[in-house]
Amino acid sequence: MIPLTNAPAVVCHAGSGSNPANSDGPRNACLAGLDAIARGNGALDAAIAATQFLEDDVRFNAGTGSNLRLDGTIQMDASCMTSGGDFAAVAAIERVRNPVAVAKRLLGTPQIVLVADGATAFARRCGFADHDPVTPAAQSRLRKVLAVTDTLGEWSRSELERAWNYDTPLREALGCDTVGSVAWDGKGFASSLSTGGTTTVLRGRVGDVPLPGCGLFTGIHGAIVATGDGEYIARSLLAYRAYAELERGRSPEQVVQWALDELAEGVDIGVIVMNQTGFAGGARRGMAWHGQCGGA
Ligand code: ASP
Repeated sequence: MIPLTNAPAVVCHAGSGSNPANSDGPRNACLAGLDAIARGNGALDAAIAATQFLEDDVRFNAGTGSNLRLDGTIQMDASCMTSGGDFAAVAAIERVRNPVAVAKRLLGTPQIVLVADGATAFARRCGFADHDPVTPAAQSRLRKVLAVTDTLGEWSRSELERAWNYDTPLREALGCDTVGSVAWDGKGFASSLSTGGTTTVLRGRVGDVPLPGCGLFTGIHGAIVATGDGEYIARSLLAYRAYAELERGRSPEQVVQWALDELAEGVDIGVIVMNQTGFAGGARRGMAWHGQCGGA
């Protein structure tokens, strides 16, 4: 592992269960983040630029290409946090291209979370244009999910995984990726997340992504972002508890393993972790992710 010095570093993931063959997405997102720092911005702008890059990549479940809710609409969650103690998020926002940029814009207000129509109205007020994030691939995922929904009700996720005998892999039928980034600018850390949420969720559902300490946490000891089954991640305050492990002196690799061991068998979980000793990432079902250090 490369210890982080004053040189910047960015680590990005394309979500638990995302195909590692698509790691060009996270790799180019890291470059977008490092480029933001090279142009004189800090870790927050790097984490936002990197996550925005992944929101614009239609292969991933965030921004354009987000999962559809069971009613066929798209509602998205996004958040950002810095080691300076700033946090902001939007939840169930609709029809914007880059939800994470709206979350960042909220940092300049006294509020920390805006939801649903209030979040969308705030985005419009700030000049974020109307944008339809629906893609044919996401519509097709919903059709597959609806085709198996009756079956899903009868099985636990892990039982279903073991018994699955359709040609379409279960992961592909269900979808389940969030995109996320952590960044170090030589002085401080920042993190950001963005998602269309898991499949088979109701309109109005809010996951772990916009909840501080659940999907992400960042402090002076480092930055963590999680991906996977948001309800489980949120109930266990996973990111905050992973941060506490970093604070106790565990390495990023150890904290990744701690997080993967923490949730019950069959729960979908992945994390990326960064501190001044370096970075690490991992997921139970594989994950496209990449970390990159910038020039000195
Ligand atoms: N954690 C996200 C959510 O529950 C989804 C994911 O990471 O795949 O909304």
